[in-house]
Amino acid sequence: MATEYDYIVVGGGAAGSIVAATVAAAGYSVLLLERGQPVAADAIDVWDPTRWMRLLDDPTYELGIWSTCQAGLDGQPRALLQSQGLGGCQIHNAMVYVRGGPPTYDHWANDLGCTGWDYATLRPYFEQIEGTLGLSSPSNPLSTSVLTAAHNLNFRPNKSYNCAATAYGAVPFQFAMTPQADGSFRRSTAYQSFIGQTPAPNLTVICGAYARRLLFDVEAVSVEYQLADSGPVQLAVAAREVVLCAGAINTPALLLRSGIGPAGELLNCQVPVVLDQPNVGAHFHDDLGFGLPALATIPPPVCPSGYLAAGIFACDTGEPPPDPPGFMDVNIEVQVCTSRLYGVHPPGLVVGASAMHLQSSGSVTLDPYDPFGKAPVVNPNWMSAPGDMARAVAAFNLVEAVINEPSLVAAWGLLPPAPIKDPEAFIRSHGLSVQHYVSSCRMGADPASSVVDPQLRVHGLARVRVMDASAAPTTVTGNTAGVAMVIAARGAALMLGS
Ligand SMILES: Cc1cc2nc3c(=O)[nH]c(=O)nc-3n(C[C@H](O)[C@H](O)[C@H](O)COP(=O)(O)OP(=O)(O)OC[C@H]3O[C@@H](n4cnc5c(N)ncnc54)[C@H](O)[C@@H]3O)c2cc1C
Repeated sequence: MATEYDYIVVGGGAAGSIVAATVAAAGYSVLLLERGQPVAADAIDVWDPTRWMRLLDDPTYELGIWSTCQAGLDGQPRALLQSQGLGGCQIHNAMVYVRGGPPTYDHWANDLGCTGWDYATLRPYFEQIEGTLGLSSPSNPLSTSVLTAAHNLNFRPNKSYNCAATAYGAVPFQFAMTPQADGSFRRSTAYQSFIGQTPAPNLTVICGAYARRLLFDVEAVSVEYQLADSGPVQLAVAAREVVLCAGAINTPALLLRSGIGPAGELLNCQVPVVLDQPNVGAHFHDDLGFGLPALATIPPPVCPSGYLAAGIFACDTGEPPPDPPGFMDVNIEVQVCTSRLYGVHPPGLVVGASAMHLQSSGSVTLDPYDPFGKAPVVNPNWMSAPGDMARAVAAFNLVEAVINEPSLVAAWGLLPPAPIKDPEAFIRSHGLSVQHYVSSCRMGADPASSVVDPQLRVHGLARVRVMDASAAPTTVTGNTAGVAMVIAARGAALMLGS
């Protein structure tokens, strides 16, 4: 017999943890279903920020999803890193904390019909998230030298990039990690910070529970989930609502498996149509990144955050943004790091960039040969929109400027890479996902162009909401854990009527 709860939350990641904790704190009975496993309190590779890159090929956490072949990237697929477990992608993300820029949210509210999602409304939610997670911005000689290089390249310091009107400038990143008594740091996930090792008595957490589909009847919505890979199929009933927080790859897939999506595609997969909604899985977006490595004759220190030192938010025009900034003026993020990434073994640096606010978008669809399989078909469709390559080249030029900046070269005895003669060819061959997955169930007022309304309810469907990065109507300025968490925090408050 199915067990009944007031609310069921699918996905215990950045967003789902906040939704489940908030709704449970309001006194409701909540079931949180997570396909992965708990993270033990002594799982040092997770909690120690200097070790997280070991997890990127660990199947305990990493799902190992690949994109379809990308016409814009020499026809090759790309890895789409995606973690499972209580913490979601925050189990192995780089912990950079970025709100995402006031102009972005004002654009959602003013131009895209997302009433109530302007920056002034969201600011208290950001503050609550930041206070609960705990943020740190430790400096070390490497981050100092990066900020000096940025200054020499005419970027003004922007220490409070998260609170300022624009992120533009040389930034000492804030990280979602907290200082420990011994001087080290500890990763903060939303799960650990909002729920912790012992959930509230009215919050039931089931791990290893893969939500297969939603089932609808007049009175309630149920979630059919499978325990373990081929374990028993169970049913849980939500007397009030089901909230999908499975992330921008898996939330649309779950809706599609439930019969909510483009009718033709569903029929092709032999999934009975519940609601013909062409936007489910459409508009999936990811930014594009790449990096240049340089060997160092003076070994750079390991940063407290593991590998990122500091960075620059820039504009592809090469100029500072106008005042007031437009929502996509700041569209390049440069990160300098020490790591094995891109094949560099220490000692060395990598200067990497994300070209942001790209216009290309793609899709998440079901595999017609295996619609209930555990990975959907994901096509980010990078570099398909006119103008995206020009922005990526502007980001590339800034990367080259940073890696050749004389004070940075001198500080670490860098041996900068040979000049790249054809940046476009380099971008096509070396461009990577930067895991900024958003918009596959985007919010908007019009069901003809969006999946959820500004209350995050699926258009045309009672009792189902989406509250994760997939609901973001556009990408934001920077990394995306912040936007996933603020959608969850504001969404939960809206659902509770506050
Ligand atoms: C390697 C990497 C580095 C990153 N670095 C940064 C960074 O430095 N800063 C930053 O801001 N962002 C970063 N991000 C992005 C950030 O982590 C994500 O934007 C954020 O976690 C998205 O939150 P979410 O709640 O939407 O999804 P997730 O955090 O991915 O959570 C989704 C959860 O749902 C679960 N789930 C999925 N399907 C099902 C199902 N059918 N049934 C049950 N459970 C399911 C998953 O297992 C997962 O736990 C990074 C991401 C990656 C992968």
